[in-house]
Order: sequence, then structure tokens, then C-alpha cells
Amino acid sequence: MTERLYHADSRLLDFDAAVVARREHQGRPAVVLDRTAFYAESGGQPWDTGTLGEARVLAVIEDGDEVVHVLDRPLAEARVHGRVDAARRRDHLQQHHGQHLLSRAFVEVARAETAAFHLGGDDTTIDLDRAVSEELAAKAEARANDVVWQARPVRVSLLSADEARATGLEPPEGVRTGIRIVDAEGFDRQPCGGTHPATTAEVGVILVTALERYKGGTRVHFVCGHRAASAFRLRQHVVGQLVATLSAPLPELPEAVLRLKDEVAAAQKRAAALLERALEGEARRLLADARGEGPAPSLVAPATVVATFDNWPAEDLRQLAQQLVSLAPCVALLASRSDKAQLVFAQSEGLPHDVPALLKAAVAELGGRGGGRGNLAQGGGDRLERLDAALAAARSALASPR
Ligand SMILES: [Zn+2]
Repeated sequence: MTERLYHADSRLLDFDAAVVARREHQGRPAVVLDRTAFYAESGGQPWDTGTLGEARVLAVIEDGDEVVHVLDRPLAEARVHGRVDAARRRDHLQQHHGQHLLSRAFVEVARAETAAFHLGGDDTTIDLDRAVSEELAAKAEARANDVVWQARPVRVSLLSADEARATGLEPPEGVRTGIRIVDAEGFDRQPCGGTHPATTAEVGVILVTALERYKGGTRVHFVCGHRAASAFRLRQHVVGQLVATLSAPLPELPEAVLRLKDEVAAAQKRAAALLERALEGEARRLLADARGEGPAPSLVAPATVVATFDNWPAEDLRQLAQQLVSLAPCVALLASRSDKAQLVFAQSEGLPHDVPALLKAAVAELGGRGGGRGNLAQGGGDRLERLDAALAAARSALASPR
């Protein structure tokens, strides 16, 4: 059995101990000591880290009565000096004791019981058994902070199961004696094996950062102490950048963002209208050129428009093709040249060509793929040097009888 020094003193970070067993845990060396100040993961509170002699403590886990320290290297000594990482311990202590106080405040304010607690590297949550509004969460937060700022003494006592029941506490299942009761004076009293401060003031401050609906209840995200300071600094940094970028003071940021969204939407609408006008102009110019070509230009025979552009998006090519085939009876063989070749082929209603087949042959020439239906098809390929040949082949295929 390992004596757990943190039960009696959460501030003890340095200790000496004897190695009583050597093990292996998932391929890493591990030791059991006769006594330890390292907290072993349990009850939603993660393990401590630190050093044992020269070895780094990577994980601390419970194995029955024993505490197993998983190390980054083997430990040869029979006696070792242990040192617990102080910042991590303080962080866990603040989040964990803050959770006791916040959970109690939710019982008081909303009659909401905590069904689960999770203390993660960045995020700490409690799951309440009922839905709680933002207003009630703010009340619970205020109540818990009052208790923090009153610096109430936190006492730990050991009771038997019967003694615990006599004071109205349900002891953990299967535990008969030595039930550890953590008491934040006059506010919260509960069985717990975690690390706790001497007074509630060490929690610093409790901030609820988000609420979400969860399993018919509410998941409450919160930060305590140093994490609250870090969370505030992060938000200050982000808000500061937004204030500078949008040239709006903090209280007006939401309005400034909404205004910007409206402006972007209006600009996009105008850009789309201008593009449509520009493409229509381009389509009329291409049709005029196509009709002027050849030995016997005709105003009634369908025109064939073949054109290549630099760096046009496929979407613009398609819009241009649609403009062309709707303005006059024609076949449009359009291409864009960028790091690869894009093709859009189209024909007006009533013309006889198999446009998808025409396109498939052309993209095969470009070493690519494509497809379409009815009068419109598109695709592309990497062999840019074959683009002119592919368009010429498509054009002569139009002339051959089907
Ligand atoms: Zn606790």
C-alpha cells in the first residue's frame, strides 16, 4: 500500500521515499513507492507530473492500494527524491476545487446536480442533470465567486461509512472506513480524494465560458484561477485585433461585423451583375468574330466559337458558354489555360452535336477527365501543350457528318 501524502497536505511537493516495487507499464519502466506526493489520476482530476531522481514522471496511476509512477527511464536507486510539478498541481487544484464550488452553487441556484466532471488540458466541464439558462449560470458563477472571495477555510476529515451517512453524505460504494470528506466551510461538503487548497481564495476566480445542451441537461465550460487569467488575455488579444481592424470600439464590434457582412453581400451581388454584363459583352464580340470568319459567312447558319483565355475560373467559362448559346444558335468550344487546361463545350437548343462525346475526346487528348449532359459539358487535363490540337480536333469533328 502506498501512503498518499497529498491526502494530508496538498502543498507538499518535495518528498523522499523508498522504491518498493519495479514494474513495466505499456513498455515503460514504472515504480511503486512506500509513500508519494504524486496525485494518481482519479475522480476526473488528471495525474501530477514531475521527477523521481533523474527520471521524469510521465503518468501516475492507481493500481488497487498502490500508486504506480510511470517513468521515462529506469530508476536504479532504492531511495529517491520526488518533486511534483508545482504549476500543474496548482492548476489542477484550482480547477478541481473551483468545480466543487461551482457544482454546489448550481445546486443552490438551479437545483441542478453535477452528473459528470472533466478536467482537460485546456477545457474543464461539468455536466448538469437539467437545462440551465445563461441567467442562472451567471447567478451560480456569482455565488461561487462570493465563496471564493470570502476565503473560507477548506478542511479535510476522515470518517467511517456510518459517520458519513450520519452527516447526510452518501459514502463511495464499497468504502467502509477512512472516507475523506472535503469541507468548504458552511458551503460545500462532499467525499473526495482530490487535492484541495487551504482556503477557497486559492481558486482565484471562476468564469463560466460557455453553456451547451447536453443529454437533456447542460454542459458548463469554465475556467478557474490562472486559466481564467490566460483565457482573458487570449480574448483581449483577439478583441484588440478586431477593434484595430474594424476601427470600432469594443461595445460596437458586433454591429461593425454585421455591417461588414452586409457590405460584403452587396459587393458580391454587384460583382456578379458586373461579371454577367462583361460576359455578355464578351459573348457578343466572340459571336461577331465567328460570323466574320470563313469564306461564306452566314447570319442564319449556326456559328462555331472557339476561344482560349488565360487563368479563367471554370465557372466563368461556363457562364460565357451559356451566354453564347442563348444569344444565337452556336457551338461554343471554350478553354482556359492556367497550371492546367479547362474546357467548357456547349451548343444552342436544337443543334445536333453530341457535346459530352466531343468533350470526352478533347479531355482525353489533354490526359484528363470530364463529362456533362445534353448541351453542356466540362472537364480538364494537364497536357497544356495539347490544348490547341484538342480544340482543332473538336472543331473538325463538328464538320464531319454524324
Ligand atoms: Zn475534490
